[in-house]
Amino acid sequence: MENLPTHLEKILRVIEYDDRGTMSGKIVCECGCETFGIKYFGENYAPHCLGVQKVEEQKYACVVKADCRNCGKEWLIFDFAKHAYDGLICEDGVTVPDERLVTAVAGEEHDFRIEISIEFDDEEQFTEEVVDNPPEGMSFAPDDRINIWSWVVIDLKCVKSGKVLKDFVNIELA
Ligand SMILES: [Zn+2]
Repeated sequence: MENLPTHLEKILRVIEYDDRGTMSGKIVCECGCETFGIKYFGENYAPHCLGVQKVEEQKYACVVKADCRNCGKEWLIFDFAKHAYDGLICEDGVTVPDERLVTAVAGEEHDFRIEISIEFDDEEQFTEEVVDNPPEGMSFAPDDRINIWSWVVIDLKCVKSGKVLKDFVNIELA
């Protein structure tokens, strides 16, 4: 049985899964729709390539949210402060208010399909580095490793043209 990131449990359809530390899949709303609008925060270091953005001294943010085009439900896909090893464990991350998110547009396209790949620690490494030595004031269980990522890649596929915005997000997180 695959262990999925908690915030993606209802919407991640797994394509590949390796318990030693990699998984990939596509995002499907619980209503069955695969088309989303995208809102994000981060530094566009190239068109449609998003990195973390410095928000204050030693604090960085990067967020991707998806709005279902069928039922309107909004889903958090990635937040550097919550899902990144550096953002959470090293406490480099900060969450930004929704007002700071911007809508993704690619030419005329506002509708996207979402593919995501994640890397995370294997059990031994996570236990040694995080479970047994958590940052002060935090505690983690072995199963949390799927929620604390060392790399994330998000590709967006434009629904109308079929064009793929490869590496919309491609960030090393640890
Ligand atoms: Zn939906």
